Amino acid sequence: MAAVSLNSCMTQETEKFDYNVDRFADIQVLRYQVPGFEQLTLNQKIYVYYLTEAAIYGRDILFDQHGKYNLQIRKLLENIYQNYSGDKNSADYAAMVKYMKQVWFANGIHHHYSTDKFVPEFSQEFFAEQVKALPADKLPLNEGETAEQMIETLSMVIFDPAYMQKRVNQADGQDLVLTSANNLYEGVTQKEVEDYYRSIKDVNDSTPISYGLNAKVIKVDGKVQEQQYKIGGLYGAAIEKIVYYLNKAKEYAESDKQKAYITALVDYYTTGDLRKFDEYSILWAEDTDCTVDFVNGFIESYDDPLGMTGAWESIVNFKNVEASNRTHIISANAQWFEDNSPVDPRFKKKEVKGVSAKVITAAILAGDAYPATPIGINLPNADWIRAQHGSKSVTIENITDAYDEVAAGNGLNDEFAFSKEECELMEKYLTLADKLHTDLHECLGHGSGQLLPGVDPNALGEHGSTLEETRADLFALYYMADKKMLELGIFEHPDTYMAEYYKYIMNGLMTQNTRIELGKDIEESHMRNRKLISEWAYVNGKADNVIEYVKRDGKTYIRINDYEKLRELFGKLLAEIQRIKSEGDYAAGKKLVEDYAVRLDRTLHKEILDRYAKLDIAPYKGFVNPVYEAVTDKDGNITDVKISYKENYIDQMLRYSRDYSPLTKW
Ligand code: ZN
Repeated sequence: MAAVSLNSCMTQETEKFDYNVDRFADIQVLRYQVPGFEQLTLNQKIYVYYLTEAAIYGRDILFDQHGKYNLQIRKLLENIYQNYSGDKNSADYAAMVKYMKQVWFANGIHHHYSTDKFVPEFSQEFFAEQVKALPADKLPLNEGETAEQMIETLSMVIFDPAYMQKRVNQADGQDLVLTSANNLYEGVTQKEVEDYYRSIKDVNDSTPISYGLNAKVIKVDGKVQEQQYKIGGLYGAAIEKIVYYLNKAKEYAESDKQKAYITALVDYYTTGDLRKFDEYSILWAEDTDCTVDFVNGFIESYDDPLGMTGAWESIVNFKNVEASNRTHIISANAQWFEDNSPVDPRFKKKEVKGVSAKVITAAILAGDAYPATPIGINLPNADWIRAQHGSKSVTIENITDAYDEVAAGNGLNDEFAFSKEECELMEKYLTLADKLHTDLHECLGHGSGQLLPGVDPNALGEHGSTLEETRADLFALYYMADKKMLELGIFEHPDTYMAEYYKYIMNGLMTQNTRIELGKDIEESHMRNRKLISEWAYVNGKADNVIEYVKRDGKTYIRINDYEKLRELFGKLLAEIQRIKSEGDYAAGKKLVEDYAVRLDRTLHKEILDRYAKLDIAPYKGFVNPVYEAVTDKDGNITDVKISYKENYIDQMLRYSRDYSPLTKW
């Protein structure tokens, strides 16, 4: 018997899932498991399969949205890599491979998070030599372009640090359209774009379309106009493929509801009509009992400095029934949370509609969700649709599980937590507390509250994203400490919330800044949000010493002295942020962001970076997808869909570029 159990133990050991795929620059690439895929019905598997095809085919769109030279550069780097016959041990070659991996990861030449242009560590001469060494049919030339012209243009794009410096510029007082290197606008100024949308917006429309969501804004013959993303329009070749596979998937949809919104989505992709997109969004939001689900479209507007154009993304997923119990309890009590929040009653929803929350297993990540991916989603984004038809909120548990597996024992908490007590608190409760934070943030936080009549949903302008994330985070933080969590049976131990509070403040004031280069300030919306909340709570709790910086052996630590007062502070700030959003108080929102969310203390920042460097942890993570293979019989019918996890990062990227690249003619 002993031998048998030893054996089975050893088998388990050899079959342990390997999460680590690749490591370069500031990136760690992981893979995720898709537990439960084998248990889906054949119909559901085929549905998933076609939806994953529709997902991968959008990859080129995001590359091009991120910058007009990205697809050309990607192809050129891949061709150099695959045709290289020189010394593979040379520093230039290694640096070029690293750069290629960075470009893949960021879907372009700007960092996926900071949006700063990558600094290549290979020489311009090396680059030019490698291009010249390529056979003529491996040169990704634009119409009428010579190899010399391409080298000249791309050398400037890749090597000149001042040219196309930042993909999304949010710096106050600058022309955000002209100074952002993305490809969402061309030949127009910020003022021209704003004037254009002002001229076409109907301010009395209570169900407005998402202006600018699916268009590039250009100027033709001196006239500002939209170039729409649709079949026959911009990105038509990729959208055709997406539509082809959506139609294939539709044959295997689980219900008529699903068929109806796939039809609406296809109509929207075909016509570019944003009313159709709203129609699709409503039908989709109201379909809450499906097993397989997906996002596919121009969705989040963080990549647009003006917050309008959606970055293309897709996530295909299915419900994790067991884990969804937690989110069902929360959404079933949505009205209670809304009624009891510390917000002015005028800004509360009288009736919370259809907040549906579930835990899902991601089957594929694509576009803006690949390789770096969110751990929760709440859609649709249009405020009026959320208010009238509800929204779907999901926590992607197979992704958070992968993060947890890899993070366990990386040493971060040991280095930065104040004492053993905080470490133990986090070890015991953080996994559950983190999941609940995501659930509350996504399924109640974003969906809570209402605008006063006549307030423009975009009134907070460039600070809208930061303040919206702040609102959702505060809602989650405030309620985690409520005894309702114990009553509902979500937490068993009353200290559970403290693990999240400690981690949140430690992260907001210290550890998240490991992602920022010394000398720079915070720009990304979610990071600004965490800094805003932590810094505001620190400053406003000073009189009661709620949060304290403690120096020990030359190192700085965060100590929370009063968790209950901290909760009160979160409630107070939540009330104020909701007021700002409901009234559209731009000036107050801007002031909060500027006072609390942006600036870093250089001395502390340097200390954190030094301590973090010793831990050797990659600050950013992302994922390769599993590979789905359709097994067919002799008549071509799909009889099974197989999933495998063997593919590495380079192979996956090269395969996607080879097989799923409808926008490149090379
Ligand atoms: Zn959010």
